[in-house]
Amino acid sequence: MNPSFFRNCSMSQVLERPPIRQNRKRSHLEALPEGRPRLFAERPGEVRLVPCNACGGSKFKKLFYKESSLRETFQVVRCSCGLVQVNPQPDLKAIMPYYTDAYFKKRTDRGYDNYYSEALRDEIRRVFTLNLADLDFFTFEEKALKSGSNHALDVGCAAGYFVEYMAERAWRSRGIELSRSAGTVARKRGLDVTIGDFLTSSELSPSSYDLVSFWASIEHMHDPASVLRRAYEILKPGGRMLLSTCRYGILARIRGKDWRYMNVPEHLYFFSLRGLSKMARGIGFQVVRTVTYGSGMTTRKDGSELYATVKRYADPAVKFLNQGDMMAFHLEKMS
Ligand SMILES: [Zn+2]
Repeated sequence: MNPSFFRNCSMSQVLERPPIRQNRKRSHLEALPEGRPRLFAERPGEVRLVPCNACGGSKFKKLFYKESSLRETFQVVRCSCGLVQVNPQPDLKAIMPYYTDAYFKKRTDRGYDNYYSEALRDEIRRVFTLNLADLDFFTFEEKALKSGSNHALDVGCAAGYFVEYMAERAWRSRGIELSRSAGTVARKRGLDVTIGDFLTSSELSPSSYDLVSFWASIEHMHDPASVLRRAYEILKPGGRMLLSTCRYGILARIRGKDWRYMNVPEHLYFFSLRGLSKMARGIGFQVVRTVTYGSGMTTRKDGSELYATVKRYADPAVKFLNQGDMMAFHLEKMS
């Protein structure tokens, strides 16, 4: 990184500490039962300000502070280009404590207790099918499989649910996963999954895949722009990329720090539909189709009848209006 970056940026507002004990009104942080939460600034060297991943710029506007599951506080900012992000950012070492076995077992954003449970696996597979239909993937798949173009790689594959899903659909299906605990689960299930870093892995050759996918994984990565460039490189001309991520749009702006996907620092980037489309086009992808979905109302196992009814109408409505807080892309590497 250019050392002049830190000198040039106007970051006084961005670097200030959260006003934990200044307001008379009790803040969320003060209400914690055990002592004072740790702040990002107390881990120098591990948490640092980085240039915007989309534009390289350094003009950030502070949006809010958000506390993590490990009671560290992180700052969420919006770049002048529009990309919302955690910045300063914890480096890989600082973020790894968030990806222990417990991360997968306690994950509750879909209302289930355990990512590895049968129930959640079935729910994830149901969403894959919906996404693939919405993205008009099956038309491409039929042609691809007929011509023997069936090499697929799922990046950030976790327990390998999409790897398995595609293997069942006659793809030569592989995955790569940075988390040892999740990757080990996938491997034990007999799937072709590498535990390692997609950006530096020596196992991936240029122009060798017909399909590369990122299901809710790009927002976890430190350098999404480089990751998407690498995906472009390893795709064959005419190959496709599928990508889903949470969408920073109207629902996210309304909910602010309480938005269901504002999980920091696991989620480092919050893309808009337009912003991510622009990044993909800049790399050389053509946008085949996009879809947004999700009203922000998470499935609740023991939710009220009213909640379920509102959700039943809200979900299709936001999808129709293209205002969902999740989005999925079908992209093509132009030949
Ligand atoms: Zn930017």
